[in-house]
Amino acid sequence: MNDEKVLDVVGLKKYYPIRKGVLQKVVGHVRAVDDVSFEIHKGETFGLVGESGCGKSTIGRTIIRLTPPTAGHAYYKGSDIFALDRKELRSIRPKVQMIFQDPYSSLDPKMPVGEIIGEAVREHGIVSKEEYRDYVMEIMKVCGLRTYHIDRYPHEFSGGQRQRICIARSLALKPDLIIADEPVSALDVSIQAQIINLMKDLQQARGISYLFISHDLSVVEYISDVVGVMYLGTLVEMAPKRELFSHPRHPYTQALLSAVPVPDPEVKMNRILLKGDLPSPANPPSGCKFHTRCPYAMKICSEQVPEFKDLGSRHRCACHLMEK
Ligand code: SF4
Repeated sequence: MNDEKVLDVVGLKKYYPIRKGVLQKVVGHVRAVDDVSFEIHKGETFGLVGESGCGKSTIGRTIIRLTPPTAGHAYYKGSDIFALDRKELRSIRPKVQMIFQDPYSSLDPKMPVGEIIGEAVREHGIVSKEEYRDYVMEIMKVCGLRTYHIDRYPHEFSGGQRQRICIARSLALKPDLIIADEPVSALDVSIQAQIINLMKDLQQARGISYLFISHDLSVVEYISDVVGVMYLGTLVEMAPKRELFSHPRHPYTQALLSAVPVPDPEVKMNRILLKGDLPSPANPPSGCKFHTRCPYAMKICSEQVPEFKDLGSRHRCACHLMEK
């Protein structure tokens, strides 16, 4: 593992106000992200998993300041992204890129592919005017796109090719960190593998770090080095991939993993079924937020928030069972 931290997120919170009445008075908050901390090292993939609505996408969008944080810090190579002024933010924009879930809506339909990939290259002066077109074509090649498609429009491409265009657009800016929010969930399974492999190849060749956000544990297991598991806006467990998938410690992680299908008819699945529905982040349960569904809940669980305990070797878990 490389020791250089590319991203260090500390105590990140994002609350959305709930307004009611004619005067739109604030009557409460949706705690979409509630005190989340993690770090990503150079050339590493940090996978963030959890059920839909658990706040994982909000983390990505907050880090790149698409939405302002309520509290906390996100340090990119030591600079707090949240404290940067417009000029400073512009200077790190090329370095921290984001790929979205929907490759259809994230591309301007009126722009040819070469322009989509090259627009920000020109804006940030990544290469000279003379080198520009060759550079765009080189990036297209690296991302598995045909260079003679440079003047075609997004509607002329398949879903997988469009996601390649999105990756090429990010890659052209020579990023250190790419935040990929469900980048393959809109694609067919066979295409998913191609895109994931492309991302892995680019990482190896260029040392890029990824924050890979997904609800799909199999995909996260394949691409990640370290995995964080979220529940109702909070990280409940975090560990190197092998450790997390072989020795999950948090009851929620254990339940999530028990639901992953095993491609072997001889292996019997022991699925852990959780009781009840996912509580609302506007009114989360007291103490451990998981206590209303946890098969091991004790009295203390509804009374005290469990510490995100360091179990060693980058394994952390927020559960009172770890304190015994
Ligand atoms: Fe279950 Fe209690 Fe651990 Fe929460 S703290 S996961 S309720 S045992």
